[in-house]
Amino acid sequence: MSSSPIKLAIVGVGKIVRDQHLPSIASNPCFSLEATASRNASVDGVAAFKDIESMLDECALDAVALCMPPQYRFTAAKLALESGKHVLLEKPPGATVSEVERLHALATEHQVSLYTTWHSRYGAAVATAKAMLADLELQSVALSWKEDVRKWHPGQEWIWQAGGLGVFDPGVNGISILTECLLQQAFVSKADLSFPENRAAPIAARVIFKTCDGIEIDGDFDWRQQDGEAWNIDFTTDKGVMQIRDGGAALRFNGEEVSVPGHTEHGEYHAIYQRFAEIIELGISDVDLRPLKLVADAFLLAQRHSTEAFYE
Ligand code: NAP
Repeated sequence: MSSSPIKLAIVGVGKIVRDQHLPSIASNPCFSLEATASRNASVDGVAAFKDIESMLDECALDAVALCMPPQYRFTAAKLALESGKHVLLEKPPGATVSEVERLHALATEHQVSLYTTWHSRYGAAVATAKAMLADLELQSVALSWKEDVRKWHPGQEWIWQAGGLGVFDPGVNGISILTECLLQQAFVSKADLSFPENRAAPIAARVIFKTCDGIEIDGDFDWRQQDGEAWNIDFTTDKGVMQIRDGGAALRFNGEEVSVPGHTEHGEYHAIYQRFAEIIELGISDVDLRPLKLVADAFLLAQRHSTEAFYE
């Protein structure tokens, strides 16, 4: 790594920035947090701007982390890339697949790094699960991503608006682990999406994916879960069932715990910032659109169902 820290700014100071980005950046000597751009929020001791335009005009920066809702990322990302900054995109990387493809082309044109982060892939169990799966014959997969939207997304109006993804906002985390672990490409073969009658995004979804070899992946996504979260993936194989648990933090095989590197509070985001520093140093981008494409395809193929109105 180069000796002087990468001068970084954050755009969109909200829940994930306070919970994960700020502590991860503070503990990483590769980065120095120089500024934030956020309409209402700021970070103590850090230069604060209301918008990215004034921040880019006034601050000497090397990189920006874009953490506002996905519907509002493209314009900011385009501006940052065009002014020669490396760009980190929170998940999901954008509101559409094409806009992120355009950003990738812009990053190449301006010789800077673009990083589509998928934090759940850095869960403590994921690398071990992927390595184990390489030696097993996969027969079927059950992906269950269920949580209480009132507990996990209070007041997040953007998540219910078009492009906010609804239940796929957390669900894409499970899909990002799935696409990381599978050796074959997966496709959407059937999708049923349930939309509250007063909302533009689904509260629940059942998606059947298939691999090229016809292996079925049953995806069950639900935001109406009341009794604790279920962030699980079960891989049924010729030798037994491998279970990813707790959103990627734990692993079992045939009911027995599998030893994985210890889960730490900021482990996923620490790994994200290590990777961001690495790709900047290498002069490359890290762009993977597979999870977002599968979600987009679920919307394309969906049978839509109307369910009771949702109020917080
Ligand atoms: P959030 O708490 O709603 O924060 C997003 C921030 O973006 C807001 O506080 C807001 O700050 C800014 N913003 C800019 N334009 C906005 C607009 N038009 N509407 C609403 N906010 C706008 O959301 P979050 O939970 O941090 O999630 C942000 C992104 O991180 C999402 O893509 C999400 O999927 C991802 N993520 C979230 C979590 C989590 O646990 N929450 C985990 C991993 C990833 P100002 O009002 O100051 O501009």
